[in-house]
Amino acid sequence: ATILGIESTCDETSASICIDGVIHSNIIANQTVHEKYGGVVPELASRAHQQNIIPTVDQSIINAKIHKNDIDAVAFSRGPGLLGSLLVGTSFAKAFALAKDIPLIEINHMQAHILAHFIEDPKPTFPFLCLTVSGGHTQIVKVNDYFSMQLLGQTLDDAAGEAFDKTAKILDLPYPGGPLIDHYAKTGDKNKYSFPEPKIPDLDFSFSGLKTSILYFIQRNVKDNPLFIQNNLPDICASIQSRIVSILLNKLEKAAHLTGINNIAIAGGVSANSGLRTSLENLGAENAWNIFIPKFEYCTDNAAMVSIAGYYKYLDKDFITQDITPLTRWALD
Ligand code: ATP
Ligand code: MG
Ligand code: FE
Repeated sequence: ATILGIESTCDETSASICIDGVIHSNIIANQTVHEKYGGVVPELASRAHQQNIIPTVDQSIINAKIHKNDIDAVAFSRGPGLLGSLLVGTSFAKAFALAKDIPLIEINHMQAHILAHFIEDPKPTFPFLCLTVSGGHTQIVKVNDYFSMQLLGQTLDDAAGEAFDKTAKILDLPYPGGPLIDHYAKTGDKNKYSFPEPKIPDLDFSFSGLKTSILYFIQRNVKDNPLFIQNNLPDICASIQSRIVSILLNKLEKAAHLTGINNIAIAGGVSANSGLRTSLENLGAENAWNIFIPKFEYCTDNAAMVSIAGYYKYLDKDFITQDITPLTRWALD
């Protein structure tokens, strides 16, 4: 079966063609309008989606070397995300399915981040644990089957991606700052500065205390030395990144011990972080885990993860009707 996947939950417009479980194209239009605002502006995001959606879908069809009449079903991210952004992808998917008289498949964006692991080999076997770390979420999920997922823990405040982005803002780096912190951290000393690890029970997370302690740390040092950030950026970034990574991996290790599961995956935009990837590899080797780390292009928002998820729903004939609307919030289980 040939599935068209559509992603428009936040600020990436993306379209992908999946044929019998193999990705044939994955076109992503990034929105640069938000940079100067230091965060995604919802109204600008939905307008950019409207401009990008048709060229993005067209290109995904061209790159896959198919004709639009070859498409057997349309899968789209119904949520969670920004309402205006979701409306563009949802309306497009509904209209396309109606016009071509083909089935419509709803996809939960957070499930799609996890199902990105089924794009390429080696694929995880069920059950596995997935640490999903993105711009809006930080979750530890027990994945029992493609669409049977159980939330074991989550953030009580900021997401891991927000921790990176808000820290970057404190350091005067442009939005989104996560990749820049990663970049500077590569040449820094992660033991130069130390930041507290929050004491949060169970498998939940918190990043707001860390953000505050970083803010005070910077203010204190800049007062004594206005060039503190410029002169120490790699060490600051490496130290902050190292703490965020240790917060994440300590809970993931706890989850592995509690559940006895040793198939361990990471997903979402922050799983592109090189510090997290390397530390997980080391931790996996220590614990004899089977580790699953997505390719870079499938970490941040993309439609390949939506079209592969759509493929598995297509096999189940799990279709929805034309009367649905987007869900800005949508629990994973
Ligand atoms: P959600 O999936 O929760 O709805 P989102 O779709 O906006 O949120 P993603 O696109 O999955 O989030 O991820 C974006 C986040 O990933 C941003 O916060 C960005 O800073 C972060 N990120 C991307 N690359 C890196 C990196 N190399 N290091 C750290 N953070 C990164
Ligand atoms: Mg984004
Ligand atoms: Fe996402």
